[in-house]
Amino acid sequence: MNNTELWQSVLAQMQFHISKANFSTWFQNTEIISKENEKITISVPNAFSKEWLSNKYNKLILKTLHDIDSSTKELEFVIKPQSVKNTIPATLLENEKQEDAQLKFEEFKINKETNLNPRYTFDNFVVGSFNELAHAAALAVADNPGLTYNPLFVYGGTGLGKTHLIQAVGNKIYNESKKKRVKYISSEKFVSGIVSAIRTNSMEAFKASLAPIDVLILDDIQFIAGKNKSQEEFFHVFNSLYEKNKQIILSSDRPPNAIAELEDRLRSRFEGGMIADVSLPDYETRLVILKQKLQEKNANLPEDVLDYIAANVKKNIRELEGALNKLLVHNKINQALDLKKTKELLKGFVFSPFDIANYKKIIETVAKFYNLEEKNLFDPTRRKEIVKPRQIAMFLLRRELKYSFPAIARKFGGKDHTTAIYAYKKINQENEENNKLTEELNLIKQRIYSG
Ligand code: ADP
Ligand code: MG
Repeated sequence: MNNTELWQSVLAQMQFHISKANFSTWFQNTEIISKENEKITISVPNAFSKEWLSNKYNKLILKTLHDIDSSTKELEFVIKPQSVKNTIPATLLENEKQEDAQLKFEEFKINKETNLNPRYTFDNFVVGSFNELAHAAALAVADNPGLTYNPLFVYGGTGLGKTHLIQAVGNKIYNESKKKRVKYISSEKFVSGIVSAIRTNSMEAFKASLAPIDVLILDDIQFIAGKNKSQEEFFHVFNSLYEKNKQIILSSDRPPNAIAELEDRLRSRFEGGMIADVSLPDYETRLVILKQKLQEKNANLPEDVLDYIAANVKKNIRELEGALNKLLVHNKINQALDLKKTKELLKGFVFSPFDIANYKKIIETVAKFYNLEEKNLFDPTRRKEIVKPRQIAMFLLRRELKYSFPAIARKFGGKDHTTAIYAYKKINQENEENNKLTEELNLIKQRIYSG
């Protein structure tokens, strides 16, 4: 493995640990320029990157390198202004050899016109009961944009395929008719576009730039909650596209009715089309996904290894892919991947439910879900917006962690344990009778176990 290949493997791993935005900001134009004894020297384009990489990512890079080649003990970052743009894509694009497919770095192949990543297609999207409604709705929209379901609203936890699916719709429409203007925008970017348009008094120009769009795809729309000015502008953008039968596709980490601080008129717009969720794949589907990914990468792994990954990496599909990539990199270098080595390499990916759902995680997740601060859950108040989340937290401590009622009572300020029993019974009963609550509980649980 030469330095370029080594760095590509590291990059392929890094993209599973940090956000795409961070990734492209900090890792573009970086490369390994030397490897001597235990020290690897990485060139970076400027002082700013150097500072960030050495302060924030040093440990992660070192660990990743160390996993691939255990002789690596030290990193050095040196500034080397780049004359050639984007060293990474150039080398990766040259590298069309099939066996290196898993190391290809798609980030840089994003279509400039649509912002879509061509790797997200329907062909490589595995369908199971966990996502079949969302898939069917997405396909229907792709075949008949603007006319079937508008908007299409896809929601679900992190790493479960929302971005993949909504981009697949965009890619299909774009590939079948280059005349259609498709635009994918993360809601973060969208909001910052609105904010800067407001600041520079160029809202009209901003809206005009969106007017010709036939298909607008906004990812992670929950991000707009609480940002009132942006919501207002988005409402107008939404309406003007909608009135012209332009397709709008949205994704979110929760359904519209669970997005706090979302304007009612936007919520009712979001609910006016098709709402579909993606949830967690089961064991069989995880196995199918792994096999599909192997096929894509033209790679192979022993059956018992695949079985181990499918049975144990349950958090989400992104993690499943991360685990697979890690094993493939190892396999490429050392060739001798057996079950024992697999277990060792996947330690960070495998959790028992009790490792994930601890007291802190439950409190944190419930508070965040209801837009409260953690300490609010312990406020001795009868305000409805606090009482319900508090009861849910108590319910989950009992249900998921088997806490005793007196233990729950102690956590909540020594309340009489009958309060905890009451909370448990109440939520338990409502869970059986009230679909909205059941849905919320499912989403909260999904986050506890996948976040
Ligand atoms: P989300 O947007 O929900 O956080 P992503 O769409 O980014 O999740 O998916 C995370 C990773 O898992 C991506 O690499 C994606 O290609 C893959 N993935 C998700 N769902 C599927 C699926 N049903 N079939 C194949 N790959 C999937
Ligand atoms: Mg996403």
